[in-house]
Amino acid sequence: MLQEFEGAARILNLDPGIWKILTKPKRQIIVSCPVQMDNGNIEVFTGYRVQYNITLGPAKGGIRFHPNVNLDEVTALAAWMTWKCAVAQLPFGGGKGGVICDPTKMSKRELEALTRRYTAEIIDAIGPEKDVPAPDVNTNEQVMAWFMDTYSMHIGHTSTAVVTGKPVEMGGSLGRREATGRGVMIITRESAKHLGFDLAGARIAVQGFGNVGSVAADLLSDMGAKVIAVTDWKSGIYNEAGLDIKRLIAHNQQYRTVEGFEGQPLTNEELFKLDVDVLIPAALEEQITATNAAAIKARLIVEGANGPTTPEAHKLLHDRGVFIVPDILANAGGVTVSYFEWVQDRHGYFWPEHEVNERLEAKMCQAFSEVLRTAQKFAVDMRVAAYIVAINRVATVTKLRGMYA
Ligand code: NAD
Repeated sequence: MLQEFEGAARILNLDPGIWKILTKPKRQIIVSCPVQMDNGNIEVFTGYRVQYNITLGPAKGGIRFHPNVNLDEVTALAAWMTWKCAVAQLPFGGGKGGVICDPTKMSKRELEALTRRYTAEIIDAIGPEKDVPAPDVNTNEQVMAWFMDTYSMHIGHTSTAVVTGKPVEMGGSLGRREATGRGVMIITRESAKHLGFDLAGARIAVQGFGNVGSVAADLLSDMGAKVIAVTDWKSGIYNEAGLDIKRLIAHNQQYRTVEGFEGQPLTNEELFKLDVDVLIPAALEEQITATNAAAIKARLIVEGANGPTTPEAHKLLHDRGVFIVPDILANAGGVTVSYFEWVQDRHGYFWPEHEVNERLEAKMCQAFSEVLRTAQKFAVDMRVAAYIVAINRVATVTKLRGMYA
């Protein structure tokens, strides 16, 4: 994160004082959460909430439950959220939370108790005007519902806007589930327009067929693109004529993998080597590396996942003229519709799905063209340009607000 920040900050000629402010987290909270387990024992779980920067508005970012959670990682992810919200022009700062635990070994009751205790421990720091969490690794709509209920019980009235990613029945937004994949589709379409090729008939490979990858693949194939290959945690599938994505989604829902669908089996390494126009990494971080970058033939890479391309691979690909749309822009559709959810909760008025999608379309296109213009103006790649846009936005408001001391 710091490497990406520094490259852009140098080009912006960022004021050294502002540089210092933007490279320090605003607030880091560490809490101990005692929970009575089903066997009667008491366990104490460590939880974190980091508000990296709240210059533009309340902190925004997910909460993850995972054994490897640590303060450094949560802080880096909170910084990432700061730049993602700023690039998408949302009135949010960046935050992230996490609890060190292994949810695969916990009962539903234990998870509920942990969520409620963690919420209570950080309650003074959160709220619709302060910090608005969301789901992340191993947390979901149900965890957000417990979080919202605990917060509401403490303040004495129902406050739906304290979290996003809630069930639709209790203030969640229509279109949120598909938002990140839809955003990836919009960015792919705008990039293809910029590069001068038609998406209808374009060949696409997608790594990861979860929430992001499957929705992006589905919407792109609806537009006439040929999604010829998809991989997941277990296997992959290739069909030169184009995969039937709607049937593949049904297959994946039934078997939890794309393995067994008609077509040729395929590994991740083979997927990267395919002769495609577009490659969409939508699985894990650090998948495109200096080792496999040379074999990549795609002319456009749209980062659905967070951090899928290592800096070395990015340089190799960029030098070869590959157009890479960075994660903080390409997958910002999710946080954008989270913002819409917060807006709807605060108004108490909920939009039909087509309205959510139209507003998402407008926001993503605006962010894409601003980053593209910046890339052209400073003669830099889209990743550096996205950071320039984001840092410039936060720096400008920091200066306007002035120092309070
Ligand atoms: P998900 O869990 O729904 O799906 C992940 C997919 O990746 C699954 O199909 C899984 O089988 C596959 N996968 C796992 N290991 C793999 C491997 N080694 N090789 C190939 N495929 C593998 O997750 P998601 O919500 O779709 O998120 C995917 C990425 O997008 C993550 O990096 C996430 O941080 C990022 N992201 C998600 C959202 C969102 O709203 N869901 C928003 C922003 C960024």
